[in-house]
Amino acid sequence: MIALTESTVRSSFVNVSLRERKAIVLPADLAGHDWDRLDYFGWRDPKSPLMGFIVAEIDGSAVGLQRRQAEQPTRSRPQCSWCSDVTLPNDVVFFAARRAGSAGKAGNSVGTLLCAGFECSANVRRLDPPAYLGHDAQAARDRRIEGLRAHVDGFFRDLMVG
Ligand SMILES: [Zn+2]
Repeated sequence: MIALTESTVRSSFVNVSLRERKAIVLPADLAGHDWDRLDYFGWRDPKSPLMGFIVAEIDGSAVGLQRRQAEQPTRSRPQCSWCSDVTLPNDVVFFAARRAGSAGKAGNSVGTLLCAGFECSANVRRLDPPAYLGHDAQAARDRRIEGLRAHVDGFFRDLMVG
């Protein structure tokens, strides 16, 4: 994805009020990331850890969504709906995101099961052990990356419509 800066991050959010936009706590280390290996960028508010922020590249621009982790427990070992990792290396939690525009203001939100620490990009890039003779682990990885990007893209586009 495109490299993010503080100003692009802050202006990227589409489902927040003006007041919420000002309150967004930016991640401390934006410069230190390998953006080529990220399909979206996510972080939490250290003071309000249930609050998560996710920024993705949509049509060449950064688009951000504020999300809130639901306090309700999820069923045991759920699968992330974005990276669909089957080895379940990290916790997966339920996040709700308000829709953009008037639908969001009316309380319309969408929920997704997501990797709790936004590990999806790393998960899809892990090479599988060869499943069978001739298994192309590199091609399988490329397919997982494509799949994650398609999920992120579809989710953002759906929410941006409002
Ligand atoms: Zn994931």
